[in-house]
Amino acid sequence: MSKKVYLDPGHGGHDPGAQGNGLREKDLVLDISLKTQDILRNQYEGVSVRMSRTDDTFIELNERARDAVNWDADLFVSIHLNGAAESANGTETFMHSNSSASATARKNLHDAIFGAMRRIEPRVTDRGLKSANFAVLRGTYRDMLSVLTEALFITNPRDASMLKKSGTIDRIAEAHVEGIAKTLGLKKKSTPSAETVSSSTSFTSMSNSDKYKEMLIAVEDQGFEFEQFQRLLLAVGEQLPRFRDDGYPGAETLSATEAFQTRYNVSSPNGNFFGRPGEKTFETLLKNLPSFNNLLRANRPYPRGEDVRCIQRAVNSTDDGIYGPNTAGGVRDMQRKLNISVDGVFGPQTRKAMFNL
Ligand SMILES: [Zn+2]
Repeated sequence: MSKKVYLDPGHGGHDPGAQGNGLREKDLVLDISLKTQDILRNQYEGVSVRMSRTDDTFIELNERARDAVNWDADLFVSIHLNGAAESANGTETFMHSNSSASATARKNLHDAIFGAMRRIEPRVTDRGLKSANFAVLRGTYRDMLSVLTEALFITNPRDASMLKKSGTIDRIAEAHVEGIAKTLGLKKKSTPSAETVSSSTSFTSMSNSDKYKEMLIAVEDQGFEFEQFQRLLLAVGEQLPRFRDDGYPGAETLSATEAFQTRYNVSSPNGNFFGRPGEKTFETLLKNLPSFNNLLRANRPYPRGEDVRCIQRAVNSTDDGIYGPNTAGGVRDMQRKLNISVDGVFGPQTRKAMFNL
């Protein structure tokens, strides 16, 4: 049975929603919703998507709810961006006050959205899981799982600058997809690039966009998250100057992978899989990293050495090989970004979260 997802971009037409810092809620939430719909349709199987609006028109709130109920949706997601006093900022996610069935859906969406925002801006505020008597939730929660998202505040300068940064709208849409897929147990379509590799089509003959998809799959196959792979590259001294450990494959990570493979003779430009981070690449990466064992108790003052240098490169602090206050500060920033306890000590939990080691 196909699952039905109803996406409701807030506001529209004469109702702009929140406004500020040159942004209008109705425009951004429409972008986010359309991208969310695209990803669900293109990348997942067993799901159908319907939207309350696909252009800049106003639909009454109870009409949105009625349409979702009539269509017999499994999950209703109303997509908003917040507005309030200039100082209010961060991510919050709602369900109806009388609903308890939607609590898991609310948590899945919230965790995915807040997690994505935190990867863009570590200082973003977690406003948490909330309940309210919003009309679209009131009209839907008895018949389906029902959630309303507020990823960021349009009216807050820092949140608004995140929204203006290229990629943020995509990240918000992907986070919605992640939360929706988790809630409904959706499965990804097997991608053509996965098939081409199993049929041993050479990596080097792929288009760049297929290469990036294939890199993501290859890294996951080795049991690592993509940002962990990027941190491993940084730790061994490869260059990711612009995007560092952003978790997304692109030209920068591809060329760092190629540089690493060349440096350690894993593959060469005339190899069929040059640039693909497969088993041998990971084996070589791990062989060239220290165990960090002498740092797991790095609360004693100023440990020194090559393993300190690896961490410094991964957390973007000067690689002088001395674990001083600057390095501890870099480790604390990393711990915040990874959402683990923040103490500036490179302990086992930090090693695991940073590098999957
Ligand atoms: Zn709104």
